Amino acid sequence: MIYNDFEVWFITGAQLLYGGDAVIAVDAHSNEMVKGLNDSGNLPVKVIYKGTVNSSAEVTSAFLAANNDPKCIGVITWMHTFSPAKMWIHGLQQLRKPLLHFHTQYNKEIPWSTMDMDFMNLNQSAHGDREFGHICTRMRIRRKVVVGHWQDPQAQERIAVWMRVCAGWADAQDMLVIRFGDQMNNVAVTDGDKVEAEQRMGYHVDYCPVSELMEYHKKVKNEDVDALVSTYFAEYECEKGLEDKSTEAYKKIWNSAKAELAIRAILKDKGAKAFTTNFDDLGDLENEGLDQIPGLASQRLMAEGYGFGAEGDWKSAALYRTVWFMTKGMPEGSSFLEDYTLNFDGKKSAILQAHMLEISPAIAASKPRLEVHFLGIGIRKSQTARLVFTSKTGKGVTATVIDLGNRFRLIVNDVECIKPKPLPKLPVASALWIPAPNFEVGAGCWILAGGTHHSCFSYDITPEFWQDYAEISGIEMVHINENTTVEEFKKELRVNEVYYMLNKALM
Ligand code: MN
Repeated sequence: MIYNDFEVWFITGAQLLYGGDAVIAVDAHSNEMVKGLNDSGNLPVKVIYKGTVNSSAEVTSAFLAANNDPKCIGVITWMHTFSPAKMWIHGLQQLRKPLLHFHTQYNKEIPWSTMDMDFMNLNQSAHGDREFGHICTRMRIRRKVVVGHWQDPQAQERIAVWMRVCAGWADAQDMLVIRFGDQMNNVAVTDGDKVEAEQRMGYHVDYCPVSELMEYHKKVKNEDVDALVSTYFAEYECEKGLEDKSTEAYKKIWNSAKAELAIRAILKDKGAKAFTTNFDDLGDLENEGLDQIPGLASQRLMAEGYGFGAEGDWKSAALYRTVWFMTKGMPEGSSFLEDYTLNFDGKKSAILQAHMLEISPAIAASKPRLEVHFLGIGIRKSQTARLVFTSKTGKGVTATVIDLGNRFRLIVNDVECIKPKPLPKLPVASALWIPAPNFEVGAGCWILAGGTHHSCFSYDITPEFWQDYAEISGIEMVHINENTTVEEFKKELRVNEVYYMLNKALM
């Protein structure tokens, strides 16, 4: 199990109409199914069977217990027998944890030669799950419906995705995002309603004066910095000369390591899971300050799992943390990225994704190179260390959240990373991708949707992750994919405008 601190509860719906023997059989089947799910090796979170519910009081009690157990990150329901759905109303009104309705059946195939009326009284998922689905729809309960036999790896995979999203959701509910400095002045897309974000997506966004970070910076021990610098030289490729302690370049690497230790220490002390920086707010060099934006620190902290957004972009910082958390233990990696420059090349037209410095080495195609170069932006125009690499090739999904004033919109785009040409004069980490369905339609729809130049990319995530996330959070999602056309996409945006306006009025 990837997420050992968490559980997903499995609750079986039934009723007492068919007598005690039926309930015992329902219980035995449910136990066997939950054991099968756990033993499949396909699920990242342990499933805990919480028994059958046979009345309104039992449903309510089970759901209230789920709400109150911090280990429980979601509830799976399945109707073994017909379970009259009015008995679910009060419980569903109370349920605060993500819900997955599993439309499955104990037996895989119809036992043609032996099936009798006793069997029919016991095995009623075909109609029982429809009754349950009806009440969820009637009550506008957001949930995922997975259809498939419980032993089918494809059904298990869909549950696994939902579990990962539930884990990311649980992680976001106590996520603290620390902004060192404010947003980059005048930028619209990285701004937004932090109060609404906390209500809707769970995380809390705080400001931290850089002077407070500098108190940590002052206390970093030289020997700890020396040790971290040695780690850099062991972990990354670099030119031999860089290890010469008498050089200016070495000093810059040393400064970067000190910044990393200071940031990690303050994030740990505050219990923060994500942070942002701003190149215009770096402390006072005469007294205590950073000699340039802490790019190398941001790269490494991102790979470690801290959410990061540049220029005060707290929405990207929080979303990146969620991406990292949802993909824990998956092989290919994720990163914060920025649309940097365009390459018009017919069918291979693509967007170079990079940033001044801050790309996670988790997406690197090979061992990153530690380099020191001049960075002429922000209040400290100075030489600074960074990890340089190009990304792996292959398909992935990128996402962003924007604030539309009356709601948040999650914009998702399938992309394919292709091999770039060398960039000898641009020593930063980068990826080169073609957005689906092609550059013109993909970028056009992203712009029509109001998407940021910053996004959170992962090779491991599929669009289904984001569908589940949007369902749990209740925010709008638009997905630009191989079937997208500009015409249909514009219609979807218009329809959503009306839907969310009405939905808001109904809430
Ligand atoms: Mn940026």
